[in-house]
Amino acid sequence: MNRTPPSRAVSDAGQDDIVVPFLVEPLSTRGRVVRLGPAIDAILKRHAYPAPIARIVGEAVALTVLLGSALKIEGSFQLQTKTDGVLNMLIVDFDAPSNLRALARFDAARLAQAGGAGRSGDLLGSGHLAFTIDPGGDLARYQGVIALDGQGLEEAAHQYFLRSEQIPTLVRLAVGEVLTPTGAHWRAGGLMAQFLPDSPERRRQFDLDPGDAPPGAPRDIVAEDDHWTEAKALAATTEDHELIDPTLSSERLLYRLFHERGVRVFEPGVLRDVCRCSTERIDAMLHSFSAAERADMVGDDGMIGVTCEFCSTKRIFDPADYEKA
Ligand SMILES: [Zn+2]
Repeated sequence: MNRTPPSRAVSDAGQDDIVVPFLVEPLSTRGRVVRLGPAIDAILKRHAYPAPIARIVGEAVALTVLLGSALKIEGSFQLQTKTDGVLNMLIVDFDAPSNLRALARFDAARLAQAGGAGRSGDLLGSGHLAFTIDPGGDLARYQGVIALDGQGLEEAAHQYFLRSEQIPTLVRLAVGEVLTPTGAHWRAGGLMAQFLPDSPERRRQFDLDPGDAPPGAPRDIVAEDDHWTEAKALAATTEDHELIDPTLSSERLLYRLFHERGVRVFEPGVLRDVCRCSTERIDAMLHSFSAAERADMVGDDGMIGVTCEFCSTKRIFDPADYEKA
Protein backbone atom coordinates (compact mmCIF):
# COMPACT_ATOMS: atom_id res chain seq x y z
CA MET A 1 0.00 0.00 0.00
CA ASN A 2 1.33 3.37 -0.96
CA ARG A 3 0.43 6.10 1.50
CA THR A 4 2.84 8.66 0.21
CA PRO A 5 2.38 10.99 -2.74
CA PRO A 6 3.44 9.38 -6.01
CA SER A 7 7.21 9.06 -6.05
CA ARG A 8 7.59 9.24 -9.82
CA ALA A 9 9.32 12.46 -10.75
CA VAL A 10 6.51 14.74 -11.79
CA SER A 11 6.11 18.44 -11.30
CA ASP A 12 3.07 19.88 -9.58
CA ALA A 13 2.12 21.59 -12.80
CA GLY A 14 -0.53 19.63 -14.66
CA GLN A 15 0.57 17.60 -17.61
CA ASP A 16 -1.75 17.86 -20.58
CA ASP A 17 -2.91 15.46 -23.25
CA ILE A 18 -2.31 12.34 -21.23
CA VAL A 19 -4.27 9.41 -19.85
CA VAL A 20 -3.07 8.05 -16.51
CA PRO A 21 -4.01 4.55 -15.28
CA PHE A 22 -4.37 4.04 -11.55
CA LEU A 23 -5.07 1.29 -9.04
CA VAL A 24 -6.55 1.53 -5.55
CA GLU A 25 -5.68 -1.99 -4.54
CA PRO A 26 -7.33 -2.14 -1.10
CA LEU A 27 -10.65 -1.24 -2.74
CA SER A 28 -10.22 -3.49 -5.82
CA THR A 29 -10.69 -0.36 -7.91
CA ARG A 30 -8.89 0.49 -11.10
CA GLY A 31 -9.34 3.38 -13.44
CA ARG A 32 -7.92 6.09 -15.59
CA VAL A 33 -7.75 9.86 -15.55
CA VAL A 34 -7.63 11.78 -18.82
CA ARG A 35 -6.48 15.39 -19.10
CA LEU A 36 -6.82 17.16 -22.44
CA GLY A 37 -5.36 20.61 -23.14
CA PRO A 38 -3.85 21.65 -26.50
CA ALA A 39 -5.25 18.56 -28.30
CA ILE A 40 -8.90 19.25 -27.42
CA ASP A 41 -8.43 22.99 -27.93
CA ALA A 42 -7.17 22.35 -31.47
CA ILE A 43 -9.98 19.91 -32.27
CA LEU A 44 -12.76 22.18 -31.00
CA LYS A 45 -11.37 25.41 -32.45
CA ARG A 46 -10.75 23.86 -35.87
CA HIS A 47 -14.48 23.13 -36.15
CA ALA A 48 -15.47 26.40 -34.44
CA TYR A 49 -18.37 24.70 -32.69
CA PRO A 50 -20.67 26.89 -30.58
CA ALA A 51 -19.84 26.47 -26.88
CA PRO A 52 -22.72 24.11 -25.96
CA ILE A 53 -21.78 21.80 -28.85
CA ALA A 54 -18.07 22.07 -28.07
CA ARG A 55 -18.76 20.99 -24.48
CA ILE A 56 -20.46 17.78 -25.57
CA VAL A 57 -17.77 17.01 -28.14
CA GLY A 58 -15.18 17.56 -25.42
CA GLU A 59 -17.04 15.20 -23.08
CA ALA A 60 -17.26 12.61 -25.84
CA VAL A 61 -13.53 12.85 -26.58
CA ALA A 62 -12.66 12.45 -22.88
CA LEU A 63 -15.01 9.45 -22.60
CA THR A 64 -13.56 7.91 -25.76
CA VAL A 65 -10.06 8.12 -24.29
CA LEU A 66 -11.20 6.58 -20.99
CA LEU A 67 -12.74 3.63 -22.85
CA GLY A 68 -10.38 3.30 -25.79
CA SER A 69 -7.10 3.57 -23.89
CA ALA A 70 -7.63 -0.01 -22.64
CA LEU A 71 -6.99 -1.20 -26.19
CA LYS A 72 -3.84 -2.88 -27.34
CA ILE A 73 -1.35 -0.98 -29.47
CA GLU A 74 -2.89 -1.59 -32.89
CA GLY A 75 -6.58 -1.21 -32.24
CA SER A 76 -9.02 1.58 -32.80
CA PHE A 77 -12.04 2.63 -30.80
CA GLN A 78 -14.96 4.67 -32.07
CA LEU A 79 -17.73 6.39 -30.17
CA GLN A 80 -20.70 7.40 -32.30
CA THR A 81 -24.08 8.90 -31.48
CA LYS A 82 -27.14 9.17 -33.70
CA THR A 83 -29.95 11.07 -32.06
CA ASP A 84 -32.90 13.37 -32.72
CA GLY A 85 -31.52 16.28 -30.69
CA VAL A 86 -29.88 19.55 -31.71
CA LEU A 87 -26.58 17.65 -31.82
CA ASN A 88 -27.71 14.79 -34.03
CA MET A 89 -24.46 13.02 -34.83
CA LEU A 90 -21.13 12.74 -33.09
CA ILE A 91 -18.11 10.64 -34.01
CA VAL A 92 -14.90 10.34 -32.02
CA ASP A 93 -12.09 8.07 -33.20
CA PHE A 94 -9.25 6.92 -30.97
CA ASP A 95 -6.49 5.10 -32.82
CA ALA A 96 -4.39 3.43 -30.14
CA PRO A 97 -2.16 4.33 -28.56
CA SER A 98 -2.55 8.08 -29.01
CA ASN A 99 -4.43 9.55 -31.99
CA LEU A 100 -7.72 11.40 -31.58
CA ARG A 101 -10.15 13.03 -33.97
CA ALA A 102 -13.76 14.17 -33.61
CA LEU A 103 -16.67 15.41 -35.66
CA ALA A 104 -20.18 16.64 -34.74
CA ARG A 105 -23.25 17.55 -36.77
CA PHE A 106 -25.79 19.89 -35.27
CA ASP A 107 -28.79 22.00 -36.23
CA ALA A 108 -27.71 25.63 -35.81
CA ALA A 109 -31.29 26.93 -36.14
CA ARG A 110 -32.57 24.65 -33.39
CA LEU A 111 -29.59 25.55 -31.21
CA ALA A 112 -30.43 29.24 -31.59
CA GLN A 113 -34.09 28.49 -30.77
CA ALA A 114 -33.00 26.69 -27.61
CA GLY A 115 -31.29 29.91 -26.56
CA GLY A 116 -27.89 28.40 -27.32
CA ALA A 117 -27.77 26.46 -24.08
CA GLY A 118 -29.05 23.38 -22.38
CA ARG A 119 -28.00 20.22 -20.58
CA SER A 120 -25.84 18.02 -22.75
CA GLY A 121 -28.41 15.23 -22.43
CA ASP A 122 -31.13 17.52 -23.78
CA LEU A 123 -28.97 18.68 -26.70
CA LEU A 124 -28.28 15.07 -27.65
CA GLY A 125 -31.90 13.97 -27.28
CA SER A 126 -32.99 10.41 -27.99
CA GLY A 127 -31.35 7.79 -30.13
CA HIS A 128 -28.33 5.63 -29.52
CA LEU A 129 -24.69 5.66 -28.58
CA ALA A 130 -22.46 2.98 -30.09
CA PHE A 131 -18.93 1.93 -29.13
CA THR A 132 -17.04 0.03 -31.80
CA ILE A 133 -13.80 -1.73 -30.99
CA ASP A 134 -11.69 -2.72 -33.97
CA PRO A 135 -8.76 -4.70 -32.58
CA GLY A 136 -6.94 -4.59 -35.91
CA GLY A 137 -5.57 -7.44 -38.01
CA ASP A 138 -7.96 -10.33 -38.57
CA LEU A 139 -9.71 -10.02 -35.21
CA ALA A 140 -13.46 -9.47 -35.18
CA ARG A 141 -14.93 -6.07 -34.43
CA TYR A 142 -17.09 -5.69 -31.35
CA GLN A 143 -19.90 -3.19 -30.92
CA GLY A 144 -21.80 -2.14 -27.82
CA VAL A 145 -24.94 -0.03 -28.13
CA ILE A 146 -26.83 1.96 -25.49
CA ALA A 147 -30.10 3.82 -25.88
CA LEU A 148 -29.78 7.55 -25.34
CA ASP A 149 -32.87 9.20 -23.92
CA GLY A 150 -31.77 12.52 -22.54
CA GLN A 151 -29.42 11.08 -19.91
CA GLY A 152 -26.15 12.40 -21.37
CA LEU A 153 -22.81 10.68 -21.89
CA GLU A 154 -21.73 10.12 -18.26
CA GLU A 155 -24.89 8.29 -17.36
CA ALA A 156 -24.90 6.38 -20.65
CA ALA A 157 -21.41 5.10 -19.84
CA HIS A 158 -22.57 3.90 -16.40
CA GLN A 159 -25.47 2.04 -18.00
CA TYR A 160 -23.21 0.46 -20.61
CA PHE A 161 -20.85 -1.00 -18.04
CA LEU A 162 -23.62 -2.14 -15.72
CA ARG A 163 -25.79 -3.79 -18.37
CA SER A 164 -23.36 -4.94 -21.03
CA GLU A 165 -20.15 -5.53 -19.12
CA GLN A 166 -21.54 -5.95 -15.61
CA ILE A 167 -18.70 -3.92 -14.16
CA PRO A 168 -19.65 -1.35 -11.51
CA THR A 169 -18.27 1.86 -12.99
CA LEU A 170 -18.22 5.54 -12.17
CA VAL A 171 -17.41 8.07 -14.88
CA ARG A 172 -16.90 11.79 -14.41
CA LEU A 173 -16.45 14.15 -17.36
CA ALA A 174 -15.79 17.89 -17.45
CA VAL A 175 -15.16 20.45 -20.18
CA GLY A 176 -14.48 24.14 -19.93
CA GLU A 177 -12.64 27.12 -21.30
CA VAL A 178 -9.82 28.57 -19.26
CA LEU A 179 -8.42 32.05 -19.72
CA THR A 180 -4.67 32.38 -20.15
CA PRO A 181 -2.47 35.28 -21.27
CA THR A 182 -2.76 33.90 -24.82
CA GLY A 183 -6.57 33.80 -24.77
CA ALA A 184 -9.32 31.31 -23.97
CA HIS A 185 -8.46 27.65 -24.38
CA TRP A 186 -10.68 24.60 -24.21
CA ARG A 187 -9.81 21.89 -21.73
CA ALA A 188 -11.45 18.54 -21.04
CA GLY A 189 -10.95 15.93 -18.39
CA GLY A 190 -12.41 12.72 -17.15
CA LEU A 191 -12.08 10.03 -14.53
CA MET A 192 -13.26 6.45 -14.72
CA ALA A 193 -13.23 4.16 -11.69
CA GLN A 194 -14.19 0.49 -11.93
CA PHE A 195 -14.70 -2.20 -9.32
CA LEU A 196 -12.59 -5.11 -10.53
CA PRO A 197 -11.83 -7.80 -7.98
CA ASP A 198 -8.61 -9.36 -9.09
CA SER A 199 -9.82 -12.50 -10.82
CA PRO A 200 -8.82 -13.48 -14.38
CA GLU A 201 -12.41 -13.13 -15.54
CA ARG A 202 -12.77 -9.59 -14.33
CA ARG A 203 -9.37 -8.72 -15.69
CA ARG A 204 -10.41 -9.88 -19.14
CA GLN A 205 -13.40 -7.59 -19.04
CA PHE A 206 -11.25 -4.72 -17.93
CA ASP A 207 -9.04 -5.25 -20.95
CA LEU A 208 -12.11 -4.90 -23.17
CA ASP A 209 -10.57 -7.67 -25.22
CA PRO A 210 -13.28 -8.84 -27.59
CA GLY A 211 -11.37 -12.01 -28.38
CA ASP A 212 -11.73 -13.41 -24.87
CA ALA A 213 -15.42 -13.42 -24.17
CA PRO A 214 -18.20 -13.17 -26.73
CA PRO A 215 -20.76 -10.46 -26.06
CA GLY A 216 -23.69 -11.83 -24.11
CA ALA A 217 -21.70 -14.69 -22.58
CA PRO A 218 -22.85 -15.43 -19.02
CA ARG A 219 -20.76 -13.72 -16.41
CA ASP A 220 -20.93 -13.67 -12.67
CA ILE A 221 -22.37 -10.50 -11.35
CA VAL A 222 -20.19 -9.29 -8.51
CA ALA A 223 -22.39 -7.61 -5.98
CA GLU A 224 -21.41 -4.09 -5.11
CA ASP A 225 -19.74 -4.43 -1.77
CA ASP A 226 -18.42 -2.08 0.84
CA HIS A 227 -15.17 -1.54 -1.03
CA TRP A 228 -16.91 -0.34 -4.17
CA THR A 229 -19.29 1.80 -2.15
CA GLU A 230 -16.28 3.54 -0.61
CA ALA A 231 -14.35 3.84 -3.88
CA LYS A 232 -17.37 5.21 -5.70
CA ALA A 233 -18.03 7.74 -2.96
CA LEU A 234 -14.42 8.95 -3.10
CA ALA A 235 -14.32 9.12 -6.91
CA ALA A 236 -17.65 10.94 -6.99
CA THR A 237 -16.14 13.84 -5.04
CA THR A 238 -14.12 14.76 -8.15
CA GLU A 239 -15.13 18.31 -9.03
CA ASP A 240 -15.44 19.57 -12.59
CA HIS A 241 -12.81 22.25 -11.99
CA GLU A 242 -10.34 19.63 -10.75
CA LEU A 243 -10.63 17.73 -14.03
CA ILE A 244 -9.78 20.77 -16.15
CA ASP A 245 -7.48 22.74 -13.83
CA PRO A 246 -4.19 23.18 -15.74
CA THR A 247 -2.25 23.59 -12.48
CA LEU A 248 -3.44 20.34 -10.88
CA SER A 249 -1.63 17.23 -12.10
CA SER A 250 -3.46 13.92 -12.50
CA GLU A 251 -1.22 12.44 -9.81
CA ARG A 252 -2.15 15.10 -7.29
CA LEU A 253 -5.83 14.74 -8.15
CA LEU A 254 -5.67 10.98 -7.58
CA TYR A 255 -3.76 11.45 -4.35
CA ARG A 256 -6.37 13.93 -3.17
CA LEU A 257 -9.15 11.44 -3.89
CA PHE A 258 -7.66 8.18 -2.66
CA HIS A 259 -4.71 8.96 -0.34
CA GLU A 260 -6.36 7.38 2.69
CA ARG A 261 -6.38 4.02 0.94
CA GLY A 262 -3.24 4.41 -1.13
CA VAL A 263 -3.28 4.82 -4.90
CA ARG A 264 -0.76 3.53 -7.42
CA VAL A 265 -0.30 5.62 -10.54
CA PHE A 266 1.12 4.09 -13.73
CA GLU A 267 2.94 5.48 -16.75
CA PRO A 268 0.72 7.88 -18.67
CA GLY A 269 -0.22 7.41 -22.29
CA VAL A 270 0.28 10.43 -24.53
CA LEU A 271 -2.66 11.74 -26.59
CA ARG A 272 -2.47 13.64 -29.87
CA ASP A 273 -4.74 15.52 -32.23
CA VAL A 274 -3.90 13.42 -35.29
CA CYS A 275 -6.33 12.44 -38.03
CA ARG A 276 -6.51 9.10 -39.80
CA CYS A 277 -6.89 10.61 -43.27
CA SER A 278 -4.12 10.44 -45.86
CA THR A 279 -3.50 11.30 -49.51
CA GLU A 280 -3.04 7.57 -50.20
CA ARG A 281 -6.45 6.63 -48.78
CA ILE A 282 -8.29 9.29 -50.75
CA ASP A 283 -6.35 8.37 -53.88
CA ALA A 284 -7.47 4.74 -53.44
CA MET A 285 -11.06 5.91 -52.92
CA LEU A 286 -10.99 8.01 -56.10
CA HIS A 287 -9.65 5.02 -58.03
CA SER A 288 -12.60 2.96 -56.77
CA PHE A 289 -15.15 5.46 -58.14
CA SER A 290 -16.53 5.34 -61.68
CA ALA A 291 -15.43 7.95 -64.22
CA ALA A 292 -18.91 9.52 -63.98
CA GLU A 293 -18.68 9.78 -60.19
CA ARG A 294 -15.26 11.42 -60.46
CA ALA A 295 -16.56 13.82 -63.13
CA ASP A 296 -19.22 14.98 -60.64
CA MET A 297 -16.47 15.88 -58.19
CA VAL A 298 -14.47 18.12 -60.53
CA GLY A 299 -14.60 21.75 -59.46
CA ASP A 300 -14.46 25.00 -61.42
CA ASP A 301 -10.67 24.80 -61.46
CA GLY A 302 -10.79 21.45 -63.26
CA MET A 303 -9.46 19.61 -60.22
CA ILE A 304 -10.98 17.35 -57.57
CA GLY A 305 -10.73 18.94 -54.12
CA VAL A 306 -11.34 16.70 -51.09
CA THR A 307 -11.60 18.21 -47.62
CA CYS A 308 -11.43 15.91 -44.59
CA GLU A 309 -14.47 16.47 -42.39
CA PHE A 310 -12.50 15.63 -39.27
CA CYS A 311 -9.31 17.66 -39.63
CA SER A 312 -10.28 20.08 -42.43
CA THR A 313 -7.19 19.18 -44.48
CA LYS A 314 -7.86 19.98 -48.13
CA ARG A 315 -6.18 17.87 -50.83
CA ILE A 316 -6.26 18.49 -54.57
CA PHE A 317 -6.28 15.65 -57.12
CA ASP A 318 -5.98 15.86 -60.91
CA PRO A 319 -8.84 13.94 -62.57
CA ALA A 320 -6.55 13.14 -65.51
CA ASP A 321 -4.54 10.88 -63.21
CA TYR A 322 -7.51 8.52 -62.90
CA GLU A 323 -8.45 8.22 -66.57
CA LYS A 324 -5.29 6.59 -67.86
CA ALA A 325 -6.03 2.91 -67.16
ZN1 LIG B 1 -8.37 14.24 -41.65
